[in-house]
Amino acid sequence: MRRTGFLSLLFLAACAETPFIPVSDLPEVRPVAETEAVETAGDAADDPAIWVDIRRPSASLIVGTNKDRGLDVYGLDGGLLYRNTDGRMNNVDLRGGFPLGGRDIVLVAASNRSNDSLSLYELQPDGPGLRHLADIATGFAEPYGLCLYHSAATGNHYAFVNDKSGLMRQWQLTDNGRGGIAAEAVREFDVGSQPEGCVADDELGHLYVGEEATGIWKYGAEPTAGSARRAVDTTAGPHLTADVEGMGLYHGENGKGYLVVSSQGDYSYAVYAREGNNVYLGSFRVADAAAIDGVQETDGLDVVRADLGPGYPRGLLVVQDGFNMPSGDNQNFKYVSFAQVLEILSRP
Ligand code: CA
Ligand code: CA
Ligand code: CA
Ligand code: CA
Repeated sequence: MRRTGFLSLLFLAACAETPFIPVSDLPEVRPVAETEAVETAGDAADDPAIWVDIRRPSASLIVGTNKDRGLDVYGLDGGLLYRNTDGRMNNVDLRGGFPLGGRDIVLVAASNRSNDSLSLYELQPDGPGLRHLADIATGFAEPYGLCLYHSAATGNHYAFVNDKSGLMRQWQLTDNGRGGIAAEAVREFDVGSQPEGCVADDELGHLYVGEEATGIWKYGAEPTAGSARRAVDTTAGPHLTADVEGMGLYHGENGKGYLVVSSQGDYSYAVYAREGNNVYLGSFRVADAAAIDGVQETDGLDVVRADLGPGYPRGLLVVQDGFNMPSGDNQNFKYVSFAQVLEILSRP
């Protein structure tokens, strides 16, 4: 979540032309759809999370943060379905299969800067969208990045939240037996400088964290994994231009797939192999489509592998757009067919 500067705000207010776009010859994909704009002006939309409705893929949902207001729930056509105004939600993530009161629910978690908590909800696709379950005090002055982890090894559910000082904390989340959720802090480590974007690989047990000015780190996601880490890539190289922002995992078969990361400073996305040592596979931008503007300065993103219908036969990438054109509208999220991304990567 880089704050848009004063000049940018002036620019947005007066917006008649497209923002500066760094020159390069990166391959381009184009958005298929865009969400309704968020309710508040300035740098407000931040981070999306995609829920795939297995039984009815066309009814899949996108939960997006308005970091000045709350959580918005959109359909695959980008239309707003539900709006929550519970607080200044910065990042959001979700997982199905969370056991609560004898049911398996879809758990939605957000870093809430209004009360410095980890806000937890049940996603209720048929209405009213999000049912509040708990606000867990983070102990941070300003909770920032957030991601969830559902360990395939143990079945346990965890939340990771970081703050701008560089601290990352991990909580185990369980049914508290009274209709709510209990959270137990199980681990803490220092990323170094300001982190934000993160994503956990449930099957392989990895946690990826972006250190905004520096690069992408890979940790173990289990609470026993300590602070050991390995650099996936750095801003000292050619693939990432600070800030390193949102990241998502595309789960292929047999542990393969892709890690997609927002290289915010040059309006691009870097793609790495999900498996092994996360070899770099290519970068791309999201350019203008006929009726939808391209994407600049992405904060959060999410990606899923699923057949979501004719527009997204091989999956969906959702990215926050820092400059929603043509008229300098409030910010929104753009939807990209992952089939287009697969075409430009340097492997099948
Ligand atoms: Ca950020
Ligand atoms: Ca921003
Ligand atoms: Ca745009
Ligand atoms: Ca637009």
